[in-house]
Amino acid sequence: MEAASCSYQFRIALLGDAAVGKTSLLRRYVAGAPRAEEPELEQEPTVGVEFYSRALQLPGLRVKLQLWDTAGQERFRSITRSFYRNMVGVLLVFDVTNRDSFEHIQDWHQEVISTQDPDKVIFLLVGHKSDLSTRCVSTQEAKELAASLGMAFMETSAKNNSNVDLAFDTITTAIQQAL
Ligand code: GDP
Ligand code: MG
Repeated sequence: MEAASCSYQFRIALLGDAAVGKTSLLRRYVAGAPRAEEPELEQEPTVGVEFYSRALQLPGLRVKLQLWDTAGQERFRSITRSFYRNMVGVLLVFDVTNRDSFEHIQDWHQEVISTQDPDKVIFLLVGHKSDLSTRCVSTQEAKELAASLGMAFMETSAKNNSNVDLAFDTITTAIQQAL
């Protein structure tokens, strides 16, 4: 039987300081898509954001993810409000070897909830570059921050392909459950 057409489209963003690995994480994820679901990279002509699409089949759910990436403007925290429009999920990404990027997570969280209805956005805290041994942020304190902000926490590596699919599966499932 033909696969059912996508029932849902979820718009998800990756946010966090420059150089934490957001683009690498996203590219690793879309590159891992099954051959039949060729990932598309689309670029918005006017603003400095890019989005990628990937179709995802989870138990009882077929969904197209529209994955939005900032393209340098996170350096200046000058992300346009339209970037956040209709966003249903946000991965808040820090680099486990960069203390400042962890300290800034609450600012990024604040930025989202000041533009979006907080009840309509699912967050996932992501500690990225877990392959590196030069850590400045422990798993325990990251878990505590996630708990205090009411979100789940996961560690990922684009380099080792560790938890990359799982991170996107987790946020997608949480979005579905909140529908
Ligand atoms: P962005 O600015 O947040 O989009 O970050 P980029 O994806 O451009 O990555 C910034 C730097 O971190 C680049 O040099 C990447 O090669 C490196 N990087 C990204 N992901 C990983 C990872 O999982 N492990 C390691 N060791 N380096 C990574
Ligand atoms: Mg980037």
